[in-house]
Amino acid sequence: MADYGTEAERLKEEYKVIFTEAAKVIRHEIDKFKPDYNCKICSIPCDVPKPDIFSMFPPRCPYEAWQVKALSYLTNEYSAKLKVSKKSIMEKKKDYHCNKCGECCKLAISGYSPMQLKQRAIRGDKFAREFTSIYIPYDSEEMVEAVCPDYYNKLKNCMDEDERLYFYYCRKLGADNLCSDYENRPDICKDFPRNPLKILPDTCGYLPWRESANKLAMSIKAREDLIAFYKEKLG
Ligand code: SF4
Ligand code: SF4
Repeated sequence: MADYGTEAERLKEEYKVIFTEAAKVIRHEIDKFKPDYNCKICSIPCDVPKPDIFSMFPPRCPYEAWQVKALSYLTNEYSAKLKVSKKSIMEKKKDYHCNKCGECCKLAISGYSPMQLKQRAIRGDKFAREFTSIYIPYDSEEMVEAVCPDYYNKLKNCMDEDERLYFYYCRKLGADNLCSDYENRPDICKDFPRNPLKILPDTCGYLPWRESANKLAMSIKAREDLIAFYKEKLG
């Protein structure tokens, strides 16, 4: 069996490096909007020791506009650039194909319990509606491991220790390992895998796509997470 533990550790370390680099890039973008302003000549009463993007600036302070402009840039123009990069990754997926290994039908994971998924489906969540229309929860993790030992171990190694995930299988997979209702399969099957950060089974035909796009996808995710952080702090 492949050493999934080492591979998962390598990916975590790689993400840390990518995240640190992304944080520097985003900070550089933010600093482009920093006013070239000399506080010493300012007459506005203020007790900000050293202007930083997270400081509380008094009204009419030029640094206040810095926060507004930087946040607007990150959430509009910069986010639009990230969307274009994501689209190009998904375009490249078209060069790869499903080889009908059936693993994603035998094993799907979700952070939501069957009850939570049902509730989300009732509230109109399309993904949950499609998911619950085909997937059934496994009775035990032992059963998951017996059906898909490699994929199960790969997923387990990539999960955080305190992470709670639920395992499901599709009731439409036939004994011949093919979809018994292929023409009517939902979009979640047609679109699988929906992003290159997804952990795929070693038998998946999209694995080379995932590997070629993974670094860029991690970088986009890091930048999106950072933008969400700045939005929360400055918004
Ligand atoms: S509906 Fe068909 S393609 Fe989709 S998970 Fe089930 S068996 Fe696989
Ligand atoms: S895991 Fe990949 S190759 Fe296997 S059935 Fe799913 S999409 Fe196709």
